[in-house]
Amino acid sequence: MQLTDSHGRNINYLRLSVTDRCNMRCFYCMPKEGVVKKGHPAILSYEELQLIAESAVEIGIEKIRITGGEPLVRDGIVAFLDRLARIPGLRHLALTTNGSLLADMADDLYKAGVQRLNVSLDSLDAKTFSDITRGGDLNMVLAGLDAAERSGFPPPKINCVIMRGVNDAEILDFADRTLTHGNSIRFIEYMPAIREDGWQRYSISGEEILERIAARYSLEQVDKGMFAGPSRDFRIPGARGSIGIITAVSGHFCSECNRIRVTSTGQAKGCLFSDEKTDLVPFLRPPDPAGLAQVLKYIVSSKPERHGISGDGYIHTNFTMSQVGG
Ligand code: SAM
Ligand code: SF4
Repeated sequence: MQLTDSHGRNINYLRLSVTDRCNMRCFYCMPKEGVVKKGHPAILSYEELQLIAESAVEIGIEKIRITGGEPLVRDGIVAFLDRLARIPGLRHLALTTNGSLLADMADDLYKAGVQRLNVSLDSLDAKTFSDITRGGDLNMVLAGLDAAERSGFPPPKINCVIMRGVNDAEILDFADRTLTHGNSIRFIEYMPAIREDGWQRYSISGEEILERIAARYSLEQVDKGMFAGPSRDFRIPGARGSIGIITAVSGHFCSECNRIRVTSTGQAKGCLFSDEKTDLVPFLRPPDPAGLAQVLKYIVSSKPERHGISGDGYIHTNFTMSQVGG
């Protein structure tokens, strides 16, 4: 069954967050002190998350990405993923992680039926990585990337948020890495979600990132796969990996948007940058699968045509990306 929104877009993708907690504190995502911890009743149980996933697949969602916070810090995550992977009609199960726990968990994730991993990695320099993540260990993430491939996963896609004056000097280092590694490096424009002090100075457009790479390398365009998402993909001729640009702020990929989001507290969102959200909890406690399917259809049909984040006068309530799931 094809799920179409009121702007004619095919919606086939759910980003489902399983926790708002994290073992890192990336400065652009979370305040230093972390987020106010939600107690158990606020965070959805695995049974409730599964009900959402099943209803979403029933109405036409084909791909689910598990995100967070850091999804691998939640106890019981592997068994949960194993159950999700068995939902009839779900064609693609993916997970986004900071990679810090992957070295120990990659085998189990692969056996559970996760098909693809995205790993966030903003620097190849240990000190810069630690500064961005406020204490993260680069070597753990690099070990996690290796472990993922040894377990049988295709080379994980690497999500890299580029910020001027923080890690933009590494754009070419990341591009170089694609010559020898099969990962797709996806450069993501920094989004002023929590508007930390001086956030304006970090902004750098996807076009500028691309120009800086094109000044050293010729780039050929790469065709996108079915669930490829909003990146524009390129390859340095002969390279093992590829390079993607996600212009979440400057460009307008809204016309190709194929996704809805549900937070770990059960708030469904049709657009990352909209303050509109719908509480799914009344359809989970007690479980009301028919009502849930109806309300998910409503989220799809009421998706806005585009976000206004790059427009003048755009205002949104600050949010931590860790609570929405990116
Ligand atoms: N903890 C996991 C991770 O880091 O991959 C999953 C959750 S994290 C919120 C998902 C993605 O959102 C990460 O790739 C992260 O870099 C991205 N993200 C968080 N805050 C962002 C911001 N202000 N601008 C751009 N991307 C952001
Ligand atoms: Fe944690 Fe991911 Fe946010 Fe970094 S981007 S603080 S790893 S949730």
